[in-house]
Parts: sequence; structure tokens; C-alpha cells
Amino acid sequence: MILDEYIPFTIGKQKRIALIAHDSKKKDLSDWVEQHKDILKNHFLCGTGTTAKLISEKTNLPVRGYSSGPLGGDLQIGSRIVEGSVDFVIFFWDPLESQPHDPDVKALLRIAVVYNIPIATNRATADFLLSSTFMETEYERIIANYNTTIEKRIIEFLK
Ligand code: PGA
Repeated sequence: MILDEYIPFTIGKQKRIALIAHDSKKKDLSDWVEQHKDILKNHFLCGTGTTAKLISEKTNLPVRGYSSGPLGGDLQIGSRIVEGSVDFVIFFWDPLESQPHDPDVKALLRIAVVYNIPIATNRATADFLLSSTFMETEYERIIANYNTTIEKRIIEFLK
């Protein structure tokens, strides 16, 4: 059996974007979405409970809401990344306050890196992402083939 090191996944032309903002950043994120409404209306938007509702009320864009962040919303979005139904994240987290759900925040940031998806954690990066030519095309993200690791480990254990 040939064990490939990486697996390619396609981020479609229409991105599946998760929007998350801690309380002190909610205004910043909803302003940013309003500012880029013309681009964002062409993509699928979702977000943690409060952020999603706030953005959809402010911009009239449809934003699918998951649970509120402190109640597990970040983890839900992390699991959507794992199963491939979220492939782009804008997460304005608060660097000056600790959160009750800090471990969940860390888990989401980690899983976004594992799955090699674009993630902006401040406004400047979000601006750069949105002005990328990849916003209008497909993009092949490659992720480490952890199945290979499992196979290799099994082979080791079976020796
Ligand atoms: P919220 O969650 O959108 O429900 O406020 C965001 C977070 O704190 O992670």
C-alpha cells in the first residue's frame, strides 16, 4: 500500500466562513463584515451564537448560528472544520482578557492549523485574506495525512 504524506482538500469558490468574536471585539467584527458585505454575501457564513445573530441583524446577511462560544460554539465550529464543512475562519479573539472557555478557543485555533485552513485573528489579516485572488477561485489546501501515521503505528505495534 502506498502511504501518502499529504491529502489535498479543495476550498471551493464559495467559502464556508465561520465568524467568531469575543465580546470586546464584536463591534469590530460586525463593522468589518458590514464593510465587506459585497464580498461576503457570495459565501456561506456561520458563527458562534451571539456573534452570528449580531452580524446577521446588523448586515442582513444570513449567518448560521451555532451555540454561544462559552457553551461550546467554538468546539462545534472546530468539529465542522474536522468534518470539512467549515474551511475559512475569521476569529477576532481578545488578547487582553482571559475567557472561561479559553481551552475551547485554543482547541479551535489548533484544529484550524492542523487542517490548514485560512484563519484571520485580527482585522488586518482579515483584510489581507479577503483581498486574496483565492477568494474568487478554488484553492487546494493540503493537510498532513494522519491516516499514514496511524497505519505506520499499527505496523509497528503488530511487529
Ligand atoms: P459568542 O461566542 O459569539 O456566542 O459570544 C464567541 C466566543 O466567545 O467564543
